[in-house]
Amino acid sequence: MKKILVVGSVGIDDIETPAGKVEKVPGGSAVYFSLAASMFAKVNFVGVAGSDFPQETIDLMKSRDIDLKGFEIVEGKTFRWSGRYHDDMDRRDTLLTELNVFETFKPKLPDEYKNSEILFLANIHPDLQLEVLKNVNKPELIISDTMNFWINSVPEKVVEVIRKSDIFIINDTELLLMTGERNFLSGADRILEECPQLKALIVKLGKFGIYATDGNDEFFLPAFPLRQVVDPTGAGDSLAGGFTGYLAKTGIYTFQNIKTACVYGSITASYSVNDFSIQGLKEFDLDDIKSEYDIFKKLTTF
Ligand code: AMP
Repeated sequence: MKKILVVGSVGIDDIETPAGKVEKVPGGSAVYFSLAASMFAKVNFVGVAGSDFPQETIDLMKSRDIDLKGFEIVEGKTFRWSGRYHDDMDRRDTLLTELNVFETFKPKLPDEYKNSEILFLANIHPDLQLEVLKNVNKPELIISDTMNFWINSVPEKVVEVIRKSDIFIINDTELLLMTGERNFLSGADRILEECPQLKALIVKLGKFGIYATDGNDEFFLPAFPLRQVVDPTGAGDSLAGGFTGYLAKTGIYTFQNIKTACVYGSITASYSVNDFSIQGLKEFDLDDIKSEYDIFKKLTTF
């Protein structure tokens, strides 16, 4: 089993969806990711929070055996994000992004984290992602993610991160924003042309599932069929957590295994969206997902 190093955001969110509204709930890309990935493999965590971050969430992360030596709690306010979802929950408006303690954050990697075999650069300022890349000892696999906020503000830095990654995960709207294309397949072609070192590009299609390509082979997977979604926040990070966790558990990075990792990532994300904030992920247990796996098999075979 490989170890995963994750660096990303730790946040406090206000979320409004057609199913309801919650305030000051735990969030952040690294929090969702690590809770998801820790079901599959050992996770080393790097992030920063302010003194207002709930101890209960830290305790939950500890109970999942996530290594928190790289988690700094500093004086000040935690990163804040607020979003409102449309009736079509694949669409949301960001109402607020406040960097707070992230403004001055410099990721510090404990020495023992530097040899983690898999590095996951979760959604965070690309300068911080690049800084982490400089400080690790040649991971076997580098996976990265980003968000429209950074594509709009520092697009050239986002590309620099993708050029240094083996796998890049992005959602379809962000892919179109980045490439100026109108179709996600042409968008994927553009990214692979510009970043030919990528082993795989994973495009998240919201309720339509996932498209994965390595430039030769391609894969489509529907989203896990859910009758009701409560809160899509963190679905992408949970998907990435299940996906990366499965790759770490197996230690096999072929495109064939990447397809199976997409299945585990999707099942993980389906737990996340079942409830607000990180609540849904509390219910996720690798020993209990055989039925979801079988449903996926049945759905995609003909
Ligand atoms: P997702 O729904 O997968 O895009 O992830 C949502 C999480 O990302 C929320 O919990 C936010 O706290 C966090 N987030 C929102 N905007 C940013 C940003 N610009 N940088 C880092 N994390 C963010």
